[in-house]
Amino acid sequence: MSEHQEKGSISVQTENILPIIKKWLYSEHDIFLRELVSNAVDAITKLARLSDVGEYKGEVPEAKVSISINKPKKTITISDNGIGMTREEIKKYITQIAFSSAEEFIKKYKSGDEKSQIIGHFGLGFYSAYMVAEKVEIITRSYLENEQAVIWECEGNVDYVIKDGKREQTGTDIILHISKESEEYLDDFRIKQLVKKYCNFLPVVIEVNNTQANEKEALWVKQPSVLKDEDYLAFYEKLFPFQDKPLFWIHLNVDFPFHLQGILYFPKIRSDAELRKGEIKLFCRQVFVSDNISDIIPPFLTLLQGVIDSTDIPLNISRSYLQGDPRVKKISEHITRKIADKLTSMFKNEKDTYQKYWDDIHPFIKFGCMHDHDFYEKMKEAIIFRTTGGEYLTLDIYKEKYKSRIKDKVMYTSDARAQAAYVDLLKSQQIDVLLLDSLIDTHFIQFLEMNNKGTAFQRIDADIDEFLVNKDDKAKIIDPASNKTKDDTVKACFEEFLKTGELKDKLTVRLENLKSSTVSGMILLSEQTRRMQEMTSLMQGKVSDKKIDDHTLVVNTAHSLIGKIIDLSGKGEKEKAGRIVRQIYDLAMIQQRQFSGEELTAFISRSNELMNEIPV
Ligand code: ADP
Repeated sequence: MSEHQEKGSISVQTENILPIIKKWLYSEHDIFLRELVSNAVDAITKLARLSDVGEYKGEVPEAKVSISINKPKKTITISDNGIGMTREEIKKYITQIAFSSAEEFIKKYKSGDEKSQIIGHFGLGFYSAYMVAEKVEIITRSYLENEQAVIWECEGNVDYVIKDGKREQTGTDIILHISKESEEYLDDFRIKQLVKKYCNFLPVVIEVNNTQANEKEALWVKQPSVLKDEDYLAFYEKLFPFQDKPLFWIHLNVDFPFHLQGILYFPKIRSDAELRKGEIKLFCRQVFVSDNISDIIPPFLTLLQGVIDSTDIPLNISRSYLQGDPRVKKISEHITRKIADKLTSMFKNEKDTYQKYWDDIHPFIKFGCMHDHDFYEKMKEAIIFRTTGGEYLTLDIYKEKYKSRIKDKVMYTSDARAQAAYVDLLKSQQIDVLLLDSLIDTHFIQFLEMNNKGTAFQRIDADIDEFLVNKDDKAKIIDPASNKTKDDTVKACFEEFLKTGELKDKLTVRLENLKSSTVSGMILLSEQTRRMQEMTSLMQGKVSDKKIDDHTLVVNTAHSLIGKIIDLSGKGEKEKAGRIVRQIYDLAMIQQRQFSGEELTAFISRSNELMNEIPV
């Protein structure tokens, strides 16, 4: 035995805790590096703190954690130039598992400077090294004068050896003798990846085989007042490379009643399919913890991207308890409130910017309103809708604008191109309608109706309102020969040709003298029927069915073709009249749904026949 060699047993209750550690954390072996680097950074922070308060008079070296991988020897060494440990400290802090010095140190040297926090215990600590190593050596020299360097060795059982060592510099080397099953870690790239993932924003240079592997700069701990837009954008690029620029962001910085820092970015959401693309990384004192934080914040916020860092989110308890934790609840409420504040202040003070971003952020806001009533309460005045006229209006302003004609109804289109005939008809009467064309809108409409008594959304093809119809009675003139009105004749003709087969009970023919003479016919599908159909197909996971159930064909008596039908019927040319009737029906229906192959063939050949009849 060399001078001063001691043997001892790690003091734990169970016979051998190390195999348990290995087994329990089987799926998360990676975190050994996070734990050891956090300890190294803590040791460096502590030395700086001691120097600040005058307890350490020596020179504080440039802070650095070096990780070196020695493949032939199968070792990974994590070295720091921090505070180091004395023989007594090793015995106390390392060999008595679960006895952390971090708390003691913080109590003793507490400073007002929240930024140089000691990371301390949030995982398994030092012993997580045994998840990947069969033997660990610590070579350390304390900052205290006249202290001998010490070597501690332990082979993953409860027995250790501690002896004098030969380290000149203050600091600690942790040498991991990597076990056979963990040899994958003897790889520069792998270790660099882990440093990037867990330690990227630790405030100390971390080198892997002599090259710096971390960013070092954690933007979220800086004061928002010293940061420029470029800083936030560059930071976003680092967090989420190769993505479109974010629209805007919120910098969270709270010290009381809980500690929370972070930056949340609003990504560009182009389609419903991207609704789930957000990613918020959770950090605890700049050490990455998780990117699955759905238990910590409301689901709609997970559409955002960025980082949150809080020491008040308990990391050691089971995820399912987190949501019930009062601190977590407060944090989540705070974030929600901050986001609503940002959005409403933009709505009030930067209308143009808000409108410019609306198309990208509306799914997020709608999703949020439906999931979180408090968020809805804060946001409701700032929900706007794009109209077919290119304006952005709130529900109240829209209703106010058209109330004399459409009363409490809110007219919308779900597809301005497919429903162009209806959009144009309303436009001819100077009425713009809301564009509600994303998947979330179907649900959002129901939500708004439930929360705003007296508001009824109506898609433009659900009905023809009185103000779209001419009230003159010219068409009602009785034809002396048949004792019927012209309308009766037209209706009978349409019914005769259309209400056959499948359509017999499903189709209603209605005649209207519309204020526009450009459309010959339009299909109406009642709002309720259509919503029921949409819901059913949504539940069955299908895209809207090809068949349309009960519907109405509005025949526009103001269109010149109608006169033609009467003339042809009068002349006994029924077959020709029938072809025009079917063509009018098809032209109206083609705007509602896709035709089957058969229907399309019939439509095309009939179109050709009709063109053939044009006199030369
Ligand atoms: P924690 O970091 O929560 O205290 P650990 O088990 O990781 O728990 O470490 C126990 C203690 O060992 C630390 O509090 C610290 O006093 C000491 N220690 C561990 N690593 C180092 C190091 N690299 N330099 C100095 N002291 C260390």
